Amino acid sequence: MSANAICGYAGKILRVDLTNERITEEVWDEATLRKWVGGVGFGAKVLYEEVPPGVRWNDPANRLIVASGPFGGTMVGGSANISFSTKGCLTNGATSTQANGFMGAFMKSSGADAVIFEGIAGRWVYLYIHDGTAELRDARHLLGKNTWETEDEIKAELGYADRQMSVFCIGPAGENLVKYAGIFGDKDHCAGHNGIGAVMGVKKLKAFCAPLGRTPVKVAAPKKLLPSIEAIWRDVQKDPGGKRIFDFGTAGSYETGEQRVAAGTLPVKNYLTNLYPEARLMTCQYVRERWSATPKPCWACGSHHCHMITITDGPYKGLKVEEPEYEMFAAWGPLVGNTDPAETLVISNLLTLLGLEGNEAGFITSMVIELYEKGVLTKEDTGGLELKWGNIGAMRTLLERITRREGAFADMLAEGIRHAAETLGEEAKNCAVYTMKGHAPRGHDHRAFWREMFDTATSDVGTYSSSYLGPPDPDTHSLKDRFSPEEVSTHIAKTKGRRQFEDALGVCSFCVRAPMRFLLEAFNSITGWDFTVKEAQDVGLRVANLMRAFNLRHGVGADLETPSPRWGSTPVDGPAKGISIAPHWDAMLDTYYRLMGWDRQTGKPLPETLRALELDSVVADLWRDTKV
Ligand code: SF4
Repeated sequence: MSANAICGYAGKILRVDLTNERITEEVWDEATLRKWVGGVGFGAKVLYEEVPPGVRWNDPANRLIVASGPFGGTMVGGSANISFSTKGCLTNGATSTQANGFMGAFMKSSGADAVIFEGIAGRWVYLYIHDGTAELRDARHLLGKNTWETEDEIKAELGYADRQMSVFCIGPAGENLVKYAGIFGDKDHCAGHNGIGAVMGVKKLKAFCAPLGRTPVKVAAPKKLLPSIEAIWRDVQKDPGGKRIFDFGTAGSYETGEQRVAAGTLPVKNYLTNLYPEARLMTCQYVRERWSATPKPCWACGSHHCHMITITDGPYKGLKVEEPEYEMFAAWGPLVGNTDPAETLVISNLLTLLGLEGNEAGFITSMVIELYEKGVLTKEDTGGLELKWGNIGAMRTLLERITRREGAFADMLAEGIRHAAETLGEEAKNCAVYTMKGHAPRGHDHRAFWREMFDTATSDVGTYSSSYLGPPDPDTHSLKDRFSPEEVSTHIAKTKGRRQFEDALGVCSFCVRAPMRFLLEAFNSITGWDFTVKEAQDVGLRVANLMRAFNLRHGVGADLETPSPRWGSTPVDGPAKGISIAPHWDAMLDTYYRLMGWDRQTGKPLPETLRALELDSVVADLWRDTKV
């Protein structure tokens, strides 16, 4: 630990210049730490200050910031989360995406709060963080290895057993710059959005790793921390949504599956229908009861969420795979017309091994299946693949080809859904599900889930970025009518900041679905600070506004804040039949921009909004030619 380290922090940020293979250390002062806290806060600050307009995602000047936060490595449940920030390749705009596992705790106990990668290496390398320092090592022998092989080889090479070291890496998809490659770690965790794995790939950074180090994180008031951890856990289990994840993971129980059907939020056959009677098969309860399940919790986490599954019957008997998250059950079950859960498990695990993000891959696959079924695409176009609903074998081959960019069709699909839709023509543009900023949404039928559709379409980080669905919290807005345009847009504005603050702490969001005051009791016990709810919300809003300013300066503007035609279409069947968000969209933007303090025409944060968040320097950047 740095001599002047502040409680909750290792006290050091590593800057890795890949071009010159040079590593330097930085110490940030207390005022800077209070302003940005950690995680996505660090990421937003570095991204905005160091990546000017004109720098593209694949430019050496792009940064990749990997950061824990003050919770990282403490006994708060799930406190090994890390946040990744960069300029991503699907939107060519700001990105923030998180992963759990062990890295946040191990990196801090090895002496670093964050790592900033810059430049492009002259050879493939990986970063080994240990004992308060770090070194770049040759990674050429790891090229072409899948994510599990890479992790195992690095641990063997450095002499660490499983769970003594955390490794995050890219698979072949990241090496080949597939624009929805993710970063995978600790075997079943993924930071996936906006092509972050391709950013690692273009930098020729195959992996980074850290062992459980010798320096525990210093907590200011350990005796006070324990009751707040207990209070957070009590609330996680009190809330039905939190309890569902606690008991069965994100895909939940049979009841959860039925609730999704009743709500109309399962994405079925590229949104052509909303009916899927087999929903209970695509749940954790089903796979855990049918096959052999082994818990695989992250650092300090007591939840029954992450599991490994050994398939004990059928053609995949004996195969051990990770239990998919809900989004992978959705993408490789209903979305592509598959009803066999064994196939879902196998293809979902294949995505992890190849290093592909599954939401984008799922919506691309469902789009090309619809086009194939309609005769718009033929076998000649698909390289001989019979891309029909439920034909998982053909889908697996397609994903492998995309990963290798093998053939013109797969190479084009490797560029992402917006590019594919625009290349394939009008039919494709009309049936593809994507944000106009350039990425697929998460795996839901958002036509019955307006909150997340509106949030995702207006987000500045390449995935959704708002909302709070935990137990009642007097300090956080709650949503009562999911189809009320006014309520939904108000909810997204009023909860903005909460998620960003969580993502700055270095903790799994499933483990802190609790009122803000409990989070702050833990936060203040760890850091010794005296944060109020307002100060915490301001940190989150500062991050959200800075990411927005970054995007606006980089050409990702408010004109892109609408859904694609299919994404914003009206369901033809199911519980949301005939209900449409489209007529309300402009009015929702009116409400949202007004509450956020943003200009309605340009989407720019107003000068007074920026000044209130201590972002005075951004006023000049955004409003240079306007008298303010
Ligand atoms: S809830 Fe799941 S993802 Fe979060 S820390 Fe626990 S096991 Fe990991």
